[in-house]
Amino acid sequence: MKSLPYFCRGEVIRGFGRGSKELGIPTANFPDSVVDNLPADISTGIYYGWACVGNGDVYKMVMSIGWNPYYKNTKKSMETHVIHTFKEDFYGEILSVVMVGYIRPERSYDSLVEALITAINNDIEEAKAKLELPEHLKLRKDNFFTSAPSSSSAAPSPAASTSQTIMNGH
Ligand code: ADP
Ligand code: MG
Repeated sequence: MKSLPYFCRGEVIRGFGRGSKELGIPTANFPDSVVDNLPADISTGIYYGWACVGNGDVYKMVMSIGWNPYYKNTKKSMETHVIHTFKEDFYGEILSVVMVGYIRPERSYDSLVEALITAINNDIEEAKAKLELPEHLKLRKDNFFTSAPSSSSAAPSPAASTSQTIMNGH
């Protein structure tokens, strides 16, 4: 996919409460402003990459890009599971991510819950392993993550808007 790696960031908003936390796999949702900036060649499915909340550490992540039921599946949604155990929720914070690779297409929602959890856990293992490749590890140290704004209420500056999208090759 020629758009990868793809850098973007935005405020964490409330999702549809599909119970991902109950599955042990919370997914932080981006607002439409971030989703609308996705390059056209980014297909739906599961991606892996790096993520950081506010000015925090950079962790591995898996992201699902799906069709958004709220918009009758005409728009996409972006949901990031950060591979780290956080002490608290981080709604309203700025999430910065770089998508570096693609794992698989979306699974249909009628899959059994157990099958879904197994699939996601496999995605997480695949993401962890792939991100150890030197070409992926170096993105963890990218300046993009050190320039992250700390919260959505931070004073706006040209380099720090709340839902900024930095195109490939920033
Ligand atoms: P929602 O439907 O609001 O997205 P989820 O059950 O998917 O609810 O939980 C997502 C929220 O959980 C995130 O917005 C974030 O505040 C919090 N959270 C805690 N730990 C994580 C994590 N490791 N990855 C993603 N979100 C997390
Ligand atoms: Mg979610």
